[in-house]
Amino acid sequence: MSWHDLGVAALGRALAAGEFSSTELTRHLLQRVASHEALGCFLHVDAEGALAAAKAADARRAAGEAGPLLGVPVAHKDIFVTADMPTTAASKILLGYRSPFDATVVARLAAAGTVSLGKLNCDEFAMGSGNENSAYHPVQNPWDHHRVPGGSSGGSAAAVAARLVPAATGTDTGGSIRQPASFTATTGIKPTYGVCSRYGMIAFASSLDQAGPLARSAEDCALLLSAMSGFDERDATSAQRPPQDFHAQMLAPRAGASAARPLEGLRIGLPKEFFPETLGGDVDITVRRALVEFEKLGATLVDVSLPRTELSIPVYYIIAPAEASSNLSRFDGVKFGHRAAQYTDLLDMYRKTRAEGFGPEVKRRIMIGTYVLSHGYYDAYYLQAQKLRRMIADDFQRCFAGCDLIAGPVAPTVAWKHGEQGDDPVKAYLADIFTLPASLAGLPGMSLPAGFGEHGMPVGLQLIGNYFAEGQLLQAAHAFQQATDWHQRSPL
Ligand code: GLN
Repeated sequence: MSWHDLGVAALGRALAAGEFSSTELTRHLLQRVASHEALGCFLHVDAEGALAAAKAADARRAAGEAGPLLGVPVAHKDIFVTADMPTTAASKILLGYRSPFDATVVARLAAAGTVSLGKLNCDEFAMGSGNENSAYHPVQNPWDHHRVPGGSSGGSAAAVAARLVPAATGTDTGGSIRQPASFTATTGIKPTYGVCSRYGMIAFASSLDQAGPLARSAEDCALLLSAMSGFDERDATSAQRPPQDFHAQMLAPRAGASAARPLEGLRIGLPKEFFPETLGGDVDITVRRALVEFEKLGATLVDVSLPRTELSIPVYYIIAPAEASSNLSRFDGVKFGHRAAQYTDLLDMYRKTRAEGFGPEVKRRIMIGTYVLSHGYYDAYYLQAQKLRRMIADDFQRCFAGCDLIAGPVAPTVAWKHGEQGDDPVKAYLADIFTLPASLAGLPGMSLPAGFGEHGMPVGLQLIGNYFAEGQLLQAAHAFQQATDWHQRSPL
């Protein structure tokens, strides 16, 4: 087994045992990143910075410091601002932009001793589901280069799947951690809204945006999330809770459980709306097989209903663009990045800068958002959507009265081919159906590899927990991964 086959926990142990140094490991992975450039995962590789950080981590260890992430390489979705690397949000409008500070998530992972190799490709401003909206270049799915890796955290998922990095950061507004994890057989968790600070995360839809890790296992995600999360006074929506050790929560034995049945007593709700006849790509059968495994581990499956699942699509595609239209008004050529070269007056400068700088999907969302917030349409669209959002959140609470976790598919199909969706953005919007409900409700959700479907492509199982039930989610996912090896399969 090569170093790049090891996950976060295993690397932490090997580094602690002195099997190799962070500097050696970082050199190895940088070479691997360079030889897999064609995948398109990275927008910026910082070899010099990474080697300096690795050297610093080695020095910290030599000085007696320990920690599961000390010296472990990672990479960040290019939505997180970084002081020592460019940040583009995969948009031309931020070409040349350099942040004066690090995002809280980036700073916390650095403080824990991780070594950042660079910035990862994504959909422009995290708007998309296939990484095809990046203004720079697409990302290939390492399982089939003709297919998308999912999105918007497509570079993060593909880099972890291709074993270029053991873990990466991602963001999830409507599924952008879970869906690419599902498409690449990686494990990703979107925590409860407010668990990770949004400070320094370029805002798309502020009431939905959450950061989280993508890695090769639930255990690795638990280690990353413990370091990334926690109260931050610079984010007004940050949850005021003490620091959490998700790894310990994941390992805590359940009352009444045994080694063979670690999930004894766990009730997993299956919303009937998550298993429509239209599921393609052998997703249904793959997910159901994984659920049988959960039963063997002691869990009980119960039927539940989330009657407004379908409505989450129009609700999300009103609320998210509305917030985006407001958030993206700051990119006007004055404060950040690109400014049009030729213009007549201030208004013309704004117009040309934004016309040149934003890609078609971003423009579409700004226009939809402006429309649904405009006088005369606000009540009909935005206000209605907000009311439905509350009802969707209430539906979940009714489910959680009878179960501990909710399970279903992450996406209705396996990864599609590049260009397959043509010019029809609605096709991609509809494919978000199973990830949007938890996003709208602010609930934690994760995707774990459940097997392989049509064309040998990965299928993810989604687990959704109640507010702040990350420990429980990770525990269930970990038990599944102790009993199966889907998460260990490699595309290369
Ligand atoms: N696919 C969804 C969208 O395009 C979700 C994106 C996200 O979670 N950032 O908006």
